[in-house]
Amino acid sequence: MPRGVEKGSAKMSSGARDPLFGTMMDFPLVLPQILERAARIFPKVEIVSRRPDKSVARSHYADFARRARALAAGLLASGLRRGDRVATLQWNHQFHLEAYFGVPAAGAILHTLNLRLHPDELAFIIQHAADRFLLIDDVLLPLLEKLSSKVHFERVWVVPFSGQPLPAGWESYESLLAGAPADFKYPTLNENEAAAMCYTSGTTGKPKGVLYSHRALVLHSMNMTAADTLAVSERDVVLIAASMFHANAWGFPYVATMVGAKQVFPGPHLDGESFLDLLASERVTLTNGVPTIWIGVLDALNRNPGRWKLAPGLRELCAGSAPPEALFRGLDGHGIELLHAWGMTETTPLASFGRLSPVMRRRSPDEQYSARAMQGREAPFVNLRAMAGDQEVPWDGCTLGELHVRGAWIAASYYELPEARDRWTEDGWFRTGDVAAISPDGTIRIADRSKDLIKSGGEWISSVDVENALMAHPAVKEAAVIGVAHPKWQERPLAVVVCREGVQPTPDELREFLAARFAKWQLPDAFVFIAEIPRTSVGKFQKSRLREMYSDWKWES
Ligand code: AMP
Repeated sequence: MPRGVEKGSAKMSSGARDPLFGTMMDFPLVLPQILERAARIFPKVEIVSRRPDKSVARSHYADFARRARALAAGLLASGLRRGDRVATLQWNHQFHLEAYFGVPAAGAILHTLNLRLHPDELAFIIQHAADRFLLIDDVLLPLLEKLSSKVHFERVWVVPFSGQPLPAGWESYESLLAGAPADFKYPTLNENEAAAMCYTSGTTGKPKGVLYSHRALVLHSMNMTAADTLAVSERDVVLIAASMFHANAWGFPYVATMVGAKQVFPGPHLDGESFLDLLASERVTLTNGVPTIWIGVLDALNRNPGRWKLAPGLRELCAGSAPPEALFRGLDGHGIELLHAWGMTETTPLASFGRLSPVMRRRSPDEQYSARAMQGREAPFVNLRAMAGDQEVPWDGCTLGELHVRGAWIAASYYELPEARDRWTEDGWFRTGDVAAISPDGTIRIADRSKDLIKSGGEWISSVDVENALMAHPAVKEAAVIGVAHPKWQERPLAVVVCREGVQPTPDELREFLAARFAKWQLPDAFVFIAEIPRTSVGKFQKSRLREMYSDWKWES
């Protein structure tokens, strides 16, 4: 029986009591609720966006909410239908935030396109999602030209992100908003319908689309306000550094709007120094990004101690790949707390949080650091387990298994991709492809993606463990460890290292440094030094590219 239909009658026809009778209002968890409350309660709270020329545009919630409504109205007046996909090719800024709320408010699906993908991959994704409309930054029009022979959008609106006049021949986003009917009323939305969509940036197989429901985005936001997760609050100034085209910028735009925090958007500049300039000038208290961003920030801080006056208690959420323990220690030294979470595009994305338990807080600093470098415990309404075949592995902190996840904001399928059904188990769990151990207190430790584990002579070596230990060496700025084919051992570890400026350790020195923590057979057999480790489209180390680069590596016999 649909909820609410029979309210008011305590008895069902069978004579049994209706279990839904006399409970709460049926009040859907939908994004316009967040937007409208923000407009009512926080109209004057600031929203700051940095343009490509690094000048800063300032606005506030009342203006943002008015524009998001106008976007919804303008899209509907342009023929948008329920469930249509509206794509964005945009950096992080207020215009993109308007789309985050305005598109779902119109009953459509915001499809954030990853502007760093190869044009062929983008074209595949746009066609697969059947995107009808596009909102694009003026500075990204050259990218659209590369796609123009491959894809067709019914309408394209150009967003004036650069602040420069619109190039001739394009429809303007500002005119779309200015011409929107003033009598807009929100359509009635069901909390389970899709609000947003994102494709995984997987390096193997086809990109896979994930549809996020309003309900999942709202519950994910609520969870981020809890003291034991991120404690996001109205008192925060939130700098959204994770790309808005990667897994909803980790839910930050939604939760920041929900709590009425001042929001700061960095635009395209994410190098350590530009980032620190903005953290300091806007007095940011919470921000997010992949480890490579924090490695750059720490490096800049170490080279220029005292240059930036950061807000006391600044928290940085790190996720996307495993941050080295040395990063926690290094940032602590500058008064910055690195928080740690784990998640995936398929998990909206944050599913576990690495806050220290009261028991752990009584342990030694070293134990606390190693606990913080683990991926934390499952959020409420998320369940995790690690499986070896069809057996759950014990929670002993060392037995590895494939991590499975299920919960209130975990995808139930990929968008129109029935052949990927086998990523879900018969009993309703999602197979993550991550290999993890779970401690008795429920803390997970991700050892690797299953494809990154190194198989040496019948034993597994965690590339993550070795590279994170390497990054604790004072001369090492970045390190990635990969398995390379070996005639005798099947695979052996090869370490690819980027040194800090002006220092050059020898392979023997690094091997000796690692020998304190690892068995001999786990140590890399070779070290290569390069200027920069290739990055994926979302800024993680690109191990698939490294494997290609060293595929014909010859081991010394
Ligand atoms: P994506 O869907 O692009 O966000 O990638 C998700 C994958 O990133 C996960 O399956 C993990 O392999 C990896 N990942 C995310 N967060 C962490 C973390 N905190 N530590 C280690 N790996 C992570």
